[in-house]
Amino acid sequence: GAMRHLPYFCRGEVVKGFGRGSKELGIPTANFSEQVVESFPSDIPTGIYYGWACVGNGDVHKMVLSIGWNPFYKNIKKSVETHIIHTFKEDFYGEILSIVITGYIRPEKNFDSLDALISAIQEDIEEAKRQLDLPEHLKLKEDNFFHLPEGKIANNR
Ligand code: ADP
Ligand code: MG
Repeated sequence: GAMRHLPYFCRGEVVKGFGRGSKELGIPTANFSEQVVESFPSDIPTGIYYGWACVGNGDVHKMVLSIGWNPFYKNIKKSVETHIIHTFKEDFYGEILSIVITGYIRPEKNFDSLDALISAIQEDIEEAKRQLDLPEHLKLKEDNFFHLPEGKIANNR
């Protein structure tokens, strides 16, 4: 399952996504490049995860993350999208996003309506916030990974 890959550290540039309108739903998701996604373990399950994220050398925030199937590649390649639980003044395309994934919430699901999708995501966010306050997850907020030079990618650190 998902747990054996966690915690999972990853760093990469934020690229343009599919324009699915996540931002219009109030849930913008920062997408990693195809190259970064390819570096993920191929057997990591798709679904909704949570953890910590930081843009550039900014503050570390809670995040929820989806590992899903990439519609651009007819769903044979994955996409990895991070929603940072923080309000940013500006977009940060092109910046380096550092994340550590610490827990798994649920598999991908299809929803009957946009409202159902949005409320599921709101629940995921609440669940992530609660879990990340627990010591085993909270301790990763302070990990040296977030204070290392940009070049270093964790899980090879
Ligand atoms: P795209 O399809 O290009 O990924 P989104 O609607 O998902 O567009 O918006 C993602 C972009 O919004 C990110 O790349 C980032 O620049 C910006 N953004 C602003 N606030 C956040 C946030 N809290 N979490 C993630 N991305 C954010
Ligand atoms: Mg996105």
